[in-house]
Amino acid sequence: MAVVRNRRPFNLRLPLPETFDRRPCFNPPLPPTATTTASSGSGTAVAYSDLEKINVLGHGNGGTVYKVRHKRTSKLYALKVVHADTDSTIRRQIFREMEILRRTDSPHIVRCYGIFEKPSGDVEILMEYMGAGSLDTLLHAKGTFSEDQLARVARQILKGLSYLHALKIVHRDIKPSNLLVNANMEVKIADFGVSKIMCRSLDSCNSYVGTCAYMSPERFDPDSCGGNYNVYAGDIWSLGLTLLELYVGHFPFLPAGQRPDWATLMCAICFGDRPSLPDGSSEDFRSFIECCLQKESSKRWTASQLLTHPFLSKYPASES
Ligand code: ATP
Ligand code: MG
Repeated sequence: MAVVRNRRPFNLRLPLPETFDRRPCFNPPLPPTATTTASSGSGTAVAYSDLEKINVLGHGNGGTVYKVRHKRTSKLYALKVVHADTDSTIRRQIFREMEILRRTDSPHIVRCYGIFEKPSGDVEILMEYMGAGSLDTLLHAKGTFSEDQLARVARQILKGLSYLHALKIVHRDIKPSNLLVNANMEVKIADFGVSKIMCRSLDSCNSYVGTCAYMSPERFDPDSCGGNYNVYAGDIWSLGLTLLELYVGHFPFLPAGQRPDWATLMCAICFGDRPSLPDGSSEDFRSFIECCLQKESSKRWTASQLLTHPFLSKYPASES
């Protein structure tokens, strides 16, 4: 596997506008309940006092994520700690994430075992521990992915997206750093901070949330389609771009090493040609990426359709 060099990571997050999704179906979030125990997933409750912090896994926008161990069972978890004094926009994101984690139960979504809401206002989310890091860290550590590895990744993420979309949840921030990998090398969708539950079929979506590098053309420029587009197709675009990035080793719309600004990204994504795949890539993989990266959202395949694409059939689940 080729090692990726000179790849500069970037994370161009757009600020959340003031009007960020103030919709009755989702905001205000469920009233906080002071909780001291969570379900372990095997039926038994996890008391907060039984958890010991081992080390910091990382710092995100919303808080710090710790690796924690359950003292009696030695089971490992990830605990996301969001302090009470966190910026109100970020706290809204956390409540959004909590709401979605409470609703989801899928082997392809990072599992939430419980939420501890402290009298101090701190919120701590107990999650399944994804010990192998994110697809982004794996790309940096091990280099680019082969087609059969990508087929395996794509199948798992598409199953997760198909599950979410059936629940009318749009993720809106699919990218390598939000796809986590566990010790069994299973890949799962994480980070629902800017996701949205669509209440009505004609619900519109605030397009300017998430990480703009992975944003689809219609989210960058909703006016180009009269503001009327299939919101779920945005997740498919982001997945296509993510897979292509894992294949070529750099953000596909720009040359390796180029640090993009917002305008450069917007031009490349909305007006540039679809990134070309290197020689040697299979016809099936090219076709799969093409189905994800259709500029017109109505032409993009859905998650369920992509699960039947010949690229995935070529690498059956048991072998890939
Ligand atoms: P942002 O808020 O910009 O999306 P982020 O995704 O890095 O940033 P978090 O979701 O708070 O923010 O995650 C912080 C770090 O913790 C990340 O490096 C992530 O890989 C790691 N992490 C998050 N959840 C888990 C988990 N369940 N298991 C293992 N590591 C995790
Ligand atoms: Mg993230």
